[in-house]
Amino acid sequence: MGLPPDELVQRLFAGERRALAKAITLVESMRPDHREQAESLLQAALPRTGNAIRVGISGVPGVGKSTFIEGLGLWLIARGHRLAVLAVDPSSSISGGSILGDKTRMEALSQHTEAFIRPSPAGKTLGGVAANTREALLLCEAAGFDVVIVETVGVGQSETAVAGMTDFFCLLQLPNAGDDLQALKKGVVELADAIVINKVDIDPGAASLAEAQIRSALGLLKRLHEEWVPPVLKISARKHEGVEAFWNTVLAQREALKETGAFEAKRRAQAVDWMWALIENGLKARFHANPAVREALASTSDAVARGALAPGIAAAQLLRRIE
Ligand code: GDP
Repeated sequence: MGLPPDELVQRLFAGERRALAKAITLVESMRPDHREQAESLLQAALPRTGNAIRVGISGVPGVGKSTFIEGLGLWLIARGHRLAVLAVDPSSSISGGSILGDKTRMEALSQHTEAFIRPSPAGKTLGGVAANTREALLLCEAAGFDVVIVETVGVGQSETAVAGMTDFFCLLQLPNAGDDLQALKKGVVELADAIVINKVDIDPGAASLAEAQIRSALGLLKRLHEEWVPPVLKISARKHEGVEAFWNTVLAQREALKETGAFEAKRRAQAVDWMWALIENGLKARFHANPAVREALASTSDAVARGALAPGIAAAQLLRRIE
């Protein structure tokens, strides 16, 4: 990786963007020696982590995520913040292409010295992408970025992953009212700390209708946090309308959760969940790498496929091979 780790750590702590980029490349690497360096880097960074406001933003392609993040980012920087934007893009692992990775996005923001923008790591499973992004988030904090936005597209399980690594998760919506309201996709709305209807400038009437529908639907759902009722906000990212209201909402949720201790509890639970996700990934990797498993895997799964062997027995037999 060129730099000796000590120098990398120092430059990272000094807030150098290039050192941060290198550190993230290191944690994304699959090479075992890099992995070892990455672990010691992360351990060294740990005392300097935890201080950022971590915001997750999701929404279908075209809803206006990059327009919104750019506007919000420039607004935050003007108020003295340093902003990092990370992405969790499952399409980069499936097709190799990326929905979020386009280099021309957020051009004004990316040129700013107080901003750091990193596309989704490519060529990995969603689990791998999410693990790398969590580690990247910690590195951004260690480099002194006090706001970290993690962006994802409204497909697959990526939203769950992003909600699990951020303090405030919000869903960007188009102002289409009606039965097919994307926000009501089961499971995702329940993760949201706010629903944000974008492009209100196009059709304010439709946006108000959508707002009312989402609000009444939210009333029927179980709340994520007792102390926080997810609001529905209307914004126009293109016209820079609603940025301040959005940020005040982020801060208000934070205050409400901190008052009861729910904020710290959420962070702690996220850290433990992450450890478990890593254990599960590690066990899976060990299972697949085990020579005794590899030897029997094809014939055993073939027997299951033919109906000659019950799946439960097959699984037990294979698992016994790693003991
Ligand atoms: P993303 O795929 O979610 O990142 O969406 P983009 O930010 O790239 O936006 C997609 C398109 O919607 C672009 O052409 C934007 O200019 C446009 N757009 C974004 N926000 C607004 C808005 O508030 N009003 C209008 N009219 N267009 C918007």
